Amino acid sequence: MTTKKIMVGKIPIGAGSPVAIQSMTNTKTRDVEATTAQIEALVEAGCELIRVSVPDDESVEALPALIKSATVPLIADIHFRADLAIKSIEAGVAKIRINPGNIGAREKVAAVVLAAKKAGVPIRIGVNSGSLSKTVRALDVPAAQKLVASALENISLLEELDFDNIVVSVKSSDVMETIEAYRSLAGQVDYPLHLGVTESGTRETGALRSAVGLGALLADGIGDTIRVSLAADPVEEIDVARQILQAVGARRFYPEVIACPTCARCEIDLFPLARELKDRLKSSGKPLKVAVMGCVVNGPGEAADADVGLAAGQGKGVIFRGGQAVKTVPEAEFLSALLAAVDEI
Ligand code: SF4
Repeated sequence: MTTKKIMVGKIPIGAGSPVAIQSMTNTKTRDVEATTAQIEALVEAGCELIRVSVPDDESVEALPALIKSATVPLIADIHFRADLAIKSIEAGVAKIRINPGNIGAREKVAAVVLAAKKAGVPIRIGVNSGSLSKTVRALDVPAAQKLVASALENISLLEELDFDNIVVSVKSSDVMETIEAYRSLAGQVDYPLHLGVTESGTRETGALRSAVGLGALLADGIGDTIRVSLAADPVEEIDVARQILQAVGARRFYPEVIACPTCARCEIDLFPLARELKDRLKSSGKPLKVAVMGCVVNGPGEAADADVGLAAGQGKGVIFRGGQAVKTVPEAEFLSALLAAVDEI
């Protein structure tokens, strides 16, 4: 289902817009210097939307300075306090994330919605497996359906308040539950979906769990913006997010280096070559596929299928460009010949 287009500052979300990468700072938001530095590092890494927690008045007071120096839209993440949500909107954030269920009485949610409407600021309804209401927790349905029920309940509340500038997320720390919840929700609403597996884990585990969860959904065409949550420096989330988007073909950030895993037939020292090639091509920005293959069994086929390829043999290898074998070079020239072939495309 095509989703509705929502603008988060200058960044469009939904309706086929590029899936936006977002992250969240983990500095104290009231510490303007530290938070600004982290925002800059995230932007430098390729983050397109940045969320900051706003747990207190000091954090709201820091927002104008943070917004002023940030080159990407900032989103305020608020729990429990309607007044902080309203003040954050007034301070100029591009979007707020709330869980209406914990903002309190309907009048409080209505006040936040009114402020968002006046400012043209979207609201993300951020449903999370760890913060479901008592009523939803008591429902006799599978866990994923509880997330969906909570999202639908909150969407209805905002729609009753005549508000539809909405983004929704239904994150669980369980990967399969997350996939099931988003698939179900995507079939029922046309609001853009913010994807994430919450509390996904440390660097490696979190990256893998996010790749499985977000990758499955993105491959289904579900998801308009993603956040990879890692128990690590948030800057590390960005490369993982990019790799997930690139693997499912949603976006292309750098050349893709395909390397064979090697086996007894391998004739060259392939791993350092593949690593060096990947590093050297990272900033090239060309949306190419480059294959480095260790022998003549699968090598020529894979190399010919890529934009640029190497099929190695004993002490020498064949360089392919655009599916054609272009020259044979000695092993010492593999890297330079591959880079030259990329340059020629
Ligand atoms: S390309 Fe050749 S060396 Fe590499 S894994 Fe396949 S058979 Fe082995």
